[in-house]
Amino acid sequence: MDTLVTDTLLVTMDPDTPGGSGDLGIVERGAVGWTDGEIVYVGPADAVDPADAERTIDGDGRLTCPGFVNVHVHGRHSIVRGAAQDVPEIEWMDRALGPIVDHVTPADGVVGARLTALEAIASGTTTIGEYATDVAALVDEVYRPLGLRVVATETINELPDTSDVRDSDDSDDSDDSGVRDPDEPVPFDRERGAAALGRAEALFERYADDPLVEPAYGPQALDMVSMDRLREVVDRARAADRTVHMHVAQGDRERRGIEARYGDGETTVGVLDAAGLLGDHLLAAHLHGATVDERARLADAGVRMVGCPSSITAIDGIVPPIVEYREHGGDVGIGTDQAPGPGGHHALRELRTAALLAKADRGDPTALDAAGALEIATIGGARALGIDDRVGSLSPGKRADVAVYDLGSVGVAPTVNDPFHTAIPNLVYGAVGNELEAAFVDGVQLVSAGGIVGLDADAVVAEANERAERIFADAAADWRAAGSTLVDDVDAGRL
Ligand SMILES: [Zn+2]
Repeated sequence: MDTLVTDTLLVTMDPDTPGGSGDLGIVERGAVGWTDGEIVYVGPADAVDPADAERTIDGDGRLTCPGFVNVHVHGRHSIVRGAAQDVPEIEWMDRALGPIVDHVTPADGVVGARLTALEAIASGTTTIGEYATDVAALVDEVYRPLGLRVVATETINELPDTSDVRDSDDSDDSDDSGVRDPDEPVPFDRERGAAALGRAEALFERYADDPLVEPAYGPQALDMVSMDRLREVVDRARAADRTVHMHVAQGDRERRGIEARYGDGETTVGVLDAAGLLGDHLLAAHLHGATVDERARLADAGVRMVGCPSSITAIDGIVPPIVEYREHGGDVGIGTDQAPGPGGHHALRELRTAALLAKADRGDPTALDAAGALEIATIGGARALGIDDRVGSLSPGKRADVAVYDLGSVGVAPTVNDPFHTAIPNLVYGAVGNELEAAFVDGVQLVSAGGIVGLDADAVVAEANERAERIFADAAADWRAAGSTLVDDVDAGRL
């Protein structure tokens, strides 16, 4: 084998791990090794000879686990991190974020996505589920050069007059170009949808032989695409065994839009079900606007789910139904969505947030434990994206997407292995952000003790700062005229 991480606290997320215990596959002095990116050894360290490896990494005092799978990300928006938060949900896009995002150029968006990628990698994320218009630009300019694994979802939106950047966000009041009355549906722009579908199809050809890129269709939401287009997308996905990644039941604006288009009392899930569009091809984002019965129906139909705890709590004041969907038996992953509002894309912070919000939401400290959070963020995310045959656990034959955390970090230390492994809760609840010591994607090292391999993170931050200053300055008058409560906060010296 070419690489062996040995003498480590191994957490494989594979219950069949040789020498491992429990669903997490914990091996106290474990080792994981790979050849050409394929995992060839998982198990006790004393059952493998380090001399068999060209390179050995000392895992003593470290926890080694699968890299995190961030299922739902709109990476461009990191360029305007901080632009909108702490505002009433209805204002978030139309009056707070929107006037600023209008001044983001495609080149700014690339730098935003690069910042997203750096933050994600630095916390142990190895797969990003990017969701964007012209997603190939971000794959080619950001994710692929960094060596991240990416599920590239092309946004398909048929609302007229929508800018490239603004249609990549997803709050329920976030559709696009300014304020739109959801009760008065506009005619769909079918040509726009056809062009987007064309871009999606091109992804499948372009990345057919790329082991790190998995394309997906992204019909943005049922109130944003025509039923004809959605049927066409789902037919293609079913025929070719591809994923349809769609925002589903994301709140009041969508609910009103669906009633306006499909009739009083109609809901997104009801319309999709009646049209025969539910099934295991579908990855549904959010679902907080669905009923419990509807979510049970989705899980029964094999629909996968992604919840975005920080984002939906920050923007909508709602805890996404991650725990409930697991109880229905559905596959669930976690996403960080976009930086404005929830703050960013740090994997461990999102795990902590997911677990704590679930506890508070249920009034039950057992609602989501540290092990459950780890599961959702690794193998759960891989199942949600349909790539669990390749990643999500450290298992022989899978690809070596691996994160190694230093257990000596402040906030995580001390850790003990007897009578139980405190490193697991300590990492989920106590991490402060600098614990990652090494990360590998497809067996290639992306992070070392010196930082992200082959990239000057300081230069990316400097460029992002420069661009953000220009964007916010250009947007200042429009932003003030839009009159969000953030304007009052600024005038009161609170921001
Ligand atoms: Zn989204």
